[in-house]
Amino acid sequence: MWGGRTRALSRLWGLWPAGVLGRRPLSCNAASLEGSNSAHCWNCGGPGGPLRGDGFFCPQCRALQPPDPTRDHFSLMDCNRSFRVDTVKLQHRYQQLQRLVHPDFFSQRSQTERDFSEKHSTLVNDAYKTLLAPLSRGLYLLKLHGIEIPEGTDYEMDRQFLVEIMDINEKLAEAQSEAAMKEIESIVRAKQKELTDNVSRAFEQDDFEKAKEILTKMKYFSNVEEKIKLKKIPL
Ligand SMILES: [Zn+2]
Repeated sequence: MWGGRTRALSRLWGLWPAGVLGRRPLSCNAASLEGSNSAHCWNCGGPGGPLRGDGFFCPQCRALQPPDPTRDHFSLMDCNRSFRVDTVKLQHRYQQLQRLVHPDFFSQRSQTERDFSEKHSTLVNDAYKTLLAPLSRGLYLLKLHGIEIPEGTDYEMDRQFLVEIMDINEKLAEAQSEAAMKEIESIVRAKQKELTDNVSRAFEQDDFEKAKEILTKMKYFSNVEEKIKLKKIPL
């Protein structure tokens, strides 16, 4: 019975939302940004490359510079490299950056600047989304510390936890009423809140193994949340 349940559970991993997994490597698309860490402006040759000034525009000719591939999401979004993130500040920074680099503002500029603005804009979106949600933020932070959670690691989970997840999935499969769905949603929300608090504490104590274990649990609950969303979509 347990084996069957665990196997059924393993299949759930395939339903993880795209983006939580399969992120691009942290080194970013360095190859496609060749030469971008040059200290000189690509346009005027002045000492105003991405490592100078605001990192976006040449202080001399104001040409948009390519993204700095060594800059991580926390630095880009002007946040401390920590699990605790001020989401209001994060949103302001996102809006501020999009006002600087959004492709709409470059339609009359050179093809080079249009390409750079696309790249900046994608990076800013990615950084914002990653740091906004606790799960992706935690996974990213772990990755910066050299720890990744490979797919299909459920064999490492304790049986009690796997049974808890299976029970919720069964409840969800059987739920026929709005009230039943609401009840499941509130259980999952409470669990995610508890796990988010725990992972925050683990990061504060630099206990990355603990953080990894908690984030793995959060992935399971995130998968349940996705299934709740799907079930709510009227056929
Ligand atoms: Zn320049």
